[in-house]
Amino acid sequence: SRSNEPLIHHWMPFTANKQFQEAPRIIARAEGVHYWNTLGEQLLDGVSGLYTTPAGHGRREIREAVTRQLEELDYAPAFQFGVPGSFRLAHELAQMLPEGLNRVFFAGSGSEAVETALKIAIQYHRVRGQGQRQRLIGRARGYHGVNFAGWSVGGMVKNRDAFGLGLPGVAHMRHTHIPENRNVMGQGEHGGIDLADDLQRLVDLHGADTIAACIVEPIAGSTGVLVPPKGYLERLRAICDKHGILLIFDEVICGFGRTGHAFAADAFGVTPDILTMAKAITNGNIPMAAIAVREDIQQAILDAAGPDAVEFFHGYTYSAHPVACAAALATLKLYRDEDLFARAAALTPKFLERIASLADIPIVTDTRGYGLLGAVDLAVDGSAGKRGFAVLRRCFEQGLVIRVAGDTVVFAPLFITTEDELDQMFALLRGVLKTV
Ligand code: PMP
Repeated sequence: SRSNEPLIHHWMPFTANKQFQEAPRIIARAEGVHYWNTLGEQLLDGVSGLYTTPAGHGRREIREAVTRQLEELDYAPAFQFGVPGSFRLAHELAQMLPEGLNRVFFAGSGSEAVETALKIAIQYHRVRGQGQRQRLIGRARGYHGVNFAGWSVGGMVKNRDAFGLGLPGVAHMRHTHIPENRNVMGQGEHGGIDLADDLQRLVDLHGADTIAACIVEPIAGSTGVLVPPKGYLERLRAICDKHGILLIFDEVICGFGRTGHAFAADAFGVTPDILTMAKAITNGNIPMAAIAVREDIQQAILDAAGPDAVEFFHGYTYSAHPVACAAALATLKLYRDEDLFARAAALTPKFLERIASLADIPIVTDTRGYGLLGAVDLAVDGSAGKRGFAVLRRCFEQGLVIRVAGDTVVFAPLFITTEDELDQMFALLRGVLKTV
């Protein structure tokens, strides 16, 4: 069966947790919206890889671009040198991004993008004589990757507890004012404004002149699809503006069409000062991330450096890797040529309808979503996460890949998913939910 494959052996990767070891789920091949396991059995992908692959698995256009690039230039450093693709990609991204975000730095992963964004914010204040602005503000239930600053500003208590103190000077806003349902951020006409005013509370507590930046995911993805209530992001923007705090949107999950718009910033009509992206930038084919900033932020850092100095004291060996740039350029071309963000927008109501339709199942306690990102909360059964994992496992055994965050089932379908495939997904999940 799908859950009893013969590949497990001594040299278990560190990432394979205990639950996996009990029931290995090995994925061996992918094409379109499907995976295949090592026994050749087909599975539907309900999560676009890991929010990475909305244009479809195994896209020939990307594969060919990668191959061509490897034949022409496999690697060259991006420091003191440059590769053509990185300039073209920066230009194309600047054209897609919300107006004003037109300077781009490249990295290799979402976690690296977050570290980069936070360091840009801190250096920006320092070169402007505001070096005391060191404090970083995140939000409870935020997820910003696993590197040091990212997990510190992140708001997943267990992740933080595993390592202890983290970065000093970090503070977290609350993520909800509805204690009865911790996965719903707020509701009502002023719900978003009241919730965002928690940033003002932290400003009052710590002093605006100690705070460098505030980072949020416009829609929190990894912690169970937390959709911002009306007015929330606007209010954060206003508070940051008032106090000279840089606002960072972490769009590693919700960028590149997931909301039906190029970026969630467009969907909500709020432009951050810095925006991080990764995952779908290359359709998941090659690791890559990018950080976009306002031109004047980059300029302030450039202006402060002497003629021979490094301007921004940061960079990765694989920043602007030529092969990643080629994969990203081919991906952006697919998004344009196939109008995939519009396709995501068109599929959204059909998807959200099906998410909402699960509300009649007795163990379902909440359903919600935005764009092609949806969540179904399940009542806890025994210990937290037990039922969620049972659902994940049974779905896999029956041919569907979902994601679970504790007892929340998360869907993020590929943009090329058909209505029939949505029906298959939800019928299968409905069947599983009746048995757990
Ligand atoms: N930020 C957000 C919002 C994410 O969802 C993730 C990963 N899911 C990251 C950062 C980290 O990205 P990576 O795993 O590529 O380091």
